[in-house]
Amino acid sequence: MIREIETSLVDVPTIRPHKLSVATMHTQTLVLVRIRCDDGIEGWGEATTIGGLNYGEESPDSIKANLDRHIAPLLVGMDANSPARAMARLRKTIQGNRFAKCAIETALLDAQGQRLGVPVSELLGGRVRDALPVAWTLASGDTAKDIAEAEHMLDIRRHRIFKLKIGARGIKEDVDHVLAIKRALGERASVRVDVNQAWSELEAVRGIAALEAGGIDLIEQPVRADNRAALRRLAARFDVAVMADEALHGPVDAFNIARTDGADVYAVKIAQSGGLFPAQQVASVAQLAGIGLYGGTMLEGGVGTAATAHLCATWTDLSWDTELFGPLLLTEELLQEPLRYQDFTLQVPTGPGLGVRIDTEKLHYLRRKS
Ligand SMILES: [Mg+2]
Repeated sequence: MIREIETSLVDVPTIRPHKLSVATMHTQTLVLVRIRCDDGIEGWGEATTIGGLNYGEESPDSIKANLDRHIAPLLVGMDANSPARAMARLRKTIQGNRFAKCAIETALLDAQGQRLGVPVSELLGGRVRDALPVAWTLASGDTAKDIAEAEHMLDIRRHRIFKLKIGARGIKEDVDHVLAIKRALGERASVRVDVNQAWSELEAVRGIAALEAGGIDLIEQPVRADNRAALRRLAARFDVAVMADEALHGPVDAFNIARTDGADVYAVKIAQSGGLFPAQQVASVAQLAGIGLYGGTMLEGGVGTAATAHLCATWTDLSWDTELFGPLLLTEELLQEPLRYQDFTLQVPTGPGLGVRIDTEKLHYLRRKS
C-alpha cells in the first residue's frame, strides 16, 4: 500500500551561470518526491523544471503544491504493487501536471523495481545498453571560455558532443560564436545548437543555412513550439537535422508531429512527456516514423537523470545520444554515490529500481524549510 507521499524543494546553485534564450539560471530548484510503502520500501522521483515560468507553464512551487494538495491524497492507500493502476487513476483524475505525474511514476517504478529485484530499465522493456553518450552544454556565452571548457572536457574524456544555447543575441553574433567553436574543435567533437524557440521562421532560414554550412550537426527547436508548420518546413528545407523539443508535450504531440514529417529528431524528456511510460510512447512513435532519438534533460539531479538513463538504455537506436549531464551542473550532490561519468558516457545504474540512493540527511539539511 502507498502509505505516504512526501515532497521537497531543494535550491542548488549551479557551477556557473547557465544562459538560455529565455533565462539565465544561477540556481536549480530540485523537486523531489518520496513514496513510502507499507512493506517498508520507498521509491524516489523527481519533477524538476528549467528556468521556472520563463521556460514552461509549471514552476517548482506549483508542482509541489499540486502534489501535496491534490495528487498525494488521491494515491495514498492505493496498492503500491500496481504502479500502472495508480497512474491510470492519476491520469484520469488530474489534467496536465506532467512533471508531477512523472515524479510519481518514477517513484512507483523505483519502489516496484526494488520489490522485484530488477532495475527500472527492465520494467520499461529491458535494456540493450549500459552506457549512454552524453553531450555537454557550453553556455557561458564567451567564445574563448567555451572553447577552453570544451578542450578540457575532451582532455578528461567526459564529453565530445557540445550543445550551444543561442537565440538571445543577434543571428550573426550567435553564428560567429558557434562557428568559431566548431572551427577550434574540428572533427574531434560534434557541435550542436539549441535556439529555445527564439527565432522567427525567416531568421531560422538565415541562421540554419549558415550553421549547416559551418558543419553544425543538429538544430534544436529553432522556432516557437506552437508553430509546427514552420518547424516542418525547416526540417524539409535543410539537410542538417532539426530537432523538436519544447513542441513535444507527450505522445499525442509526438504522433501529430510525426504524421506531418514535422521534425528529424525528438528530444525525449520524461517530465515533458508526463512520465516514463508516456516518454517510452514518444520514443516508439519516433522509431516507427523514422525519427531519430535524443535523451533530453530538464537539468534534473541524480534521481531524474537516472530515471531517464533507464529509459534511454532500452532504445535500440540512440542515434543522437543524450544530454544527461544535469548533476554535473550542480554544486551539491544528493545521491549517496554519484552517477558515474566516464569515457564520454554515463553509466546506467545496475541496482534494483533506479539503482541510486538519496542521502536523506543531506536532503533534510538542504531542503527549503516552509
Ligand atoms: Mg532544448
